[in-house]
Amino acid sequence: MTRKFFLFLALAACLLPTAFSHAQDSKAKDGEKRAARILFVTQSQGFKHGSVSRKEGNLSPAERAMTELGVASGLFRVDCTQDVAKDFTKENLQNYDIVMFYTTGDLPIDKATLEYFFNDWLKQKGHGMIGAHSAADTFHNYEPYWDALGGTFNGHPWGSGETVTITVHDQKHPASKPWGDEFTIQDEIYRFKHWQPEKVRVLMSLNMAKTNKKEPYHVPILWVKNYGEGKIMHMSLGHNEAVWNNEKFQESMLGGIKWILNQEPGDATPNPDLSAQQEAKAKADVEAAK
Ligand SMILES: [Zn+2]
Repeated sequence: MTRKFFLFLALAACLLPTAFSHAQDSKAKDGEKRAARILFVTQSQGFKHGSVSRKEGNLSPAERAMTELGVASGLFRVDCTQDVAKDFTKENLQNYDIVMFYTTGDLPIDKATLEYFFNDWLKQKGHGMIGAHSAADTFHNYEPYWDALGGTFNGHPWGSGETVTITVHDQKHPASKPWGDEFTIQDEIYRFKHWQPEKVRVLMSLNMAKTNKKEPYHVPILWVKNYGEGKIMHMSLGHNEAVWNNEKFQESMLGGIKWILNQEPGDATPNPDLSAQQEAKAKADVEAAK
């Protein structure tokens, strides 16, 4: 198959996840190599981002970027869904290694399935969850979700037109390595509540000193954590469509996926001291700017 034809198949499959899943041999037999599979949930029950809006039957910008990344790397296949009632089921989860959320609001997933996902599926070795941008703006009042993800949306003091500076704390982890030690990017930046620094390893944070709008608190941007034998990554960037086409952003997502699939090592030891230092630094930066 030519790469172009495969891409066509992958993109077509993305819109028909269930039909495609059933037509495929989902789980490989022992010792057999197969491409990993990602279920990308892009359903919006609240605010609907342009990055997950499908136009004229085409994939949304975020869906297209992730699907193409899977094809280009040859590492994974992405099925996209905006219908969790149909596709986020115990039975269908058996076809996947990673579930990725770019969602808003309370998704119509029944409680038993959510409990299975957080208590069993996600804790299995080789399984993982990726939160992209507004994943934290989902299930505000369902503790297992925000406890696993690491935080809940608490407004976005920095709008999508803002250019911010981001500090990379861990330059070895495959998810943060592509960004160097510091970079600027134009994107909407979230503030979080239900933040539990003792449970996460923060890889990148907003550099308050170098950002125009200064707030006296730590703003984590990218973090990872172990969850049973599974792994979780949350990337706060991704509001603007351009971010999904940013090469470093794509490398960062790819690095995180390799880490979740245990193909590349990366430290997930919680670093609450770093969160405390960043919190103190942000307060000092606000004072210094007065
Ligand atoms: Zn947004």
